[in-house]
Amino acid sequence: MPGSRAKGGVGVDGLVAGRTALVTGAGQGIGLAIARLLREHGANVVVTDVDAGLAEAAAGDLGGEEGRVSSIGCDVTDEDSVEAAVAHAVERFGALDVMVNNAGITRDSTLGKMSLGDFEAVVDVHLKGTWLGVRAAARVMREARSGSIINISSLSGKSGNFGQTNYSAAKAGIVGLTKAAAKELGPRGVRVNAVQPGLIRTAMTAAMPSDVFAAREADIPMRRAGEPREVAGAVLFLASDLASYMTGAVLEVGGGRLM
Ligand code: NAP
Repeated sequence: MPGSRAKGGVGVDGLVAGRTALVTGAGQGIGLAIARLLREHGANVVVTDVDAGLAEAAAGDLGGEEGRVSSIGCDVTDEDSVEAAVAHAVERFGALDVMVNNAGITRDSTLGKMSLGDFEAVVDVHLKGTWLGVRAAARVMREARSGSIINISSLSGKSGNFGQTNYSAAKAGIVGLTKAAAKELGPRGVRVNAVQPGLIRTAMTAAMPSDVFAAREADIPMRRAGEPREVAGAVLFLASDLASYMTGAVLEVGGGRLM
């Protein structure tokens, strides 16, 4: 199939059987759910997180003993660290077919109270981190003339969220980055897409006051927050040959919020 590596396809072995995937910020939350679903569908998975211990524990949880899961500490804001994680995937499994740029943080406050440090920290992790991940993965995938890169944006980058000028800017930036990279890498057989989750139940949103969380849920047509695995489903789709003619696309996973 053009633009994809015909290693497994849709079959008994899973949608991404035999491929190698790297997920950043996969020690917990959405990244961990993505790593788990890709593994369940047959991928070799490299679990990375800024906290190497958390990544190692998550890899163990995914069944590291089968030899199909590996972990390495990776700070997505650090160029050498990102390059080393990609090199680890290639050394360990011989390829990099799927790259998921998922790591994220929030430092919410209104403009009047937000420090430059809070702005820079969020832009660094999301925007610089995704750019470093796309660039490092693209070097390997261009050579192979095949691959799928998936960047985790947010509906906050579509609508702008009160108290999130830093986060909304970074998440909107990821959309522009995704489309520009899709144009550059499309001719090389590499697809680049983004996913915009809405309100998802993870440690990141657990910090919200319960009344604010409930009010946000009430605003969603499906009347509930999403689960990390529901975001992972969209990522698996984009990683697989089912999405073989999709690049530069942004999939919203928000229960109908912000249509
Ligand atoms: P989470 O549970 O906090 O997981 C994010 C992971 O990324 C954490 O393990 C975090 O480590 C790690 N991380 C932070 N800085 C990093 C760095 N510099 N390098 C590598 N890893 C780093 O958050 P989540 O809710 O699963 O979010 C995952 C992604 O989905 C993020 O990009 C987020 O913006 C996006 N998203 C989430 C929601 C939602 O409602 N939850 C909605 C839309 C989009 P620490 O815990 O040590 O910081």
